[in-house]
Amino acid sequence: MDRDDPLAPFRDRFVLDADDGSETRRIYLDGNSLGRLPHATVERLRAVVEGEWGQGLVGSWNRWIDLAREGGDLLSTALLGGDAGEAALADSTTVNLYKALAAALEARPERRSIVTDVGNFPTDRYVVQGLAAARGLTIRWVPSDPSVDDVGAALDDDVAVVTLSHVAFTSGALIDMAAITEAAHHAGALTVWDLSHSVGVVPIALRSSCADLAVGCTYKYLNGGPGAPAFVYVRHEIQDDLRQPVWGWFGQRAQFEMAERYDPAPGIDRWLVGTPPVLSLVAAMEGIRVTADAGIDAVRAKSERLVALLERLTDEWLAPLGFEVRTPRDAAARGSHLALGHPEAWRLCRALIEHAGVVPDFRPPDVVRLGLAPLYTRYVDVWDAAVRLRLAAEGRLWEWVPPNRPRVT
Ligand SMILES: *Cc1c(COP(=O)(O)O)cnc(C)c1O
Repeated sequence: MDRDDPLAPFRDRFVLDADDGSETRRIYLDGNSLGRLPHATVERLRAVVEGEWGQGLVGSWNRWIDLAREGGDLLSTALLGGDAGEAALADSTTVNLYKALAAALEARPERRSIVTDVGNFPTDRYVVQGLAAARGLTIRWVPSDPSVDDVGAALDDDVAVVTLSHVAFTSGALIDMAAITEAAHHAGALTVWDLSHSVGVVPIALRSSCADLAVGCTYKYLNGGPGAPAFVYVRHEIQDDLRQPVWGWFGQRAQFEMAERYDPAPGIDRWLVGTPPVLSLVAAMEGIRVTADAGIDAVRAKSERLVALLERLTDEWLAPLGFEVRTPRDAAARGSHLALGHPEAWRLCRALIEHAGVVPDFRPPDVVRLGLAPLYTRYVDVWDAAVRLRLAAEGRLWEWVPPNRPRVT
């Protein structure tokens, strides 16, 4: 499978593990939390630090000022199924989610309810809770990995906005963006999609789904680097009707006229807030470029095969050892990670990292997540990881691990 893999050459575009002479090569299956470092990013950052910052100093702002929109255009057209001028790189996903939800609520002032799901990512649930508390709104919770019918049952003319993750961070379920958006619009609500676990690995069709707003991370499958700026997408047709709540000078029309009063820029620019972290923005751009070069359809095709291989090996080898697949079985209904339930999931994860050279992550209460980033994960990595999981479970490797947990899991 690796020999026939058209994306195989992309692995060399990333910084891989240094050869430390050990026999057990590390297998990194956590690209859905933090993607690998592209070589191009190292080169580009060096040039920007030494040349544009070191030599160019403040004059380099003439180049940097457009980066947020250039990155947004590439992302939107290559990976989001959107147009140029519909996305920008800015802030964190959390902050963009707050901006997007607040703008959507402002646009539907007579409606008093927000729909989200109980299994949504923590920051998404907290932002919804914060907005609801501040404005006295009602949250209508739907089940995890909601179907169109689950969402439909929560909709009526009091719902201002529906906010959901496209791919669920725990189960990996991929939900039906077009159908849910249509149901929300039918009830007069706006939609805010969190694409953090689908962008760069699942083809996204924001425009053809008529999705209103979207946000997401660039440091997961997009390999933008730790804390790289997130993105925000707003459909052209509603851009001038929406106002995000953080009125900063980067969102101001004719920013450098420094006018007395805030007057939001037309288009996506009004979603910018303040001075961006330029170095991280540059890194985010390089990450996006690698995926755009590979082509999202090729990435998706490999992702489906990687996940299917791991699923098959899990059924054959791991299910008899107490593992349970918690990801949808339908390839069209899941993203690029497999969630395995196991009663000792927490200690097993630690044991895999410390003693077996496999890097998954743990999600409470009992899930081992195995993320398969197609640009640098080989089929042989999936095979070897499954072998090591089997040996770890047969040998009860978790018994070597003390039960106390560090801060980051
Ligand atoms: C990773 C992730 C986030 C992270 O948000 P930050 O603001 O970058 O910390 C938010 N939402 C989802 C769905 C995620 O998967």
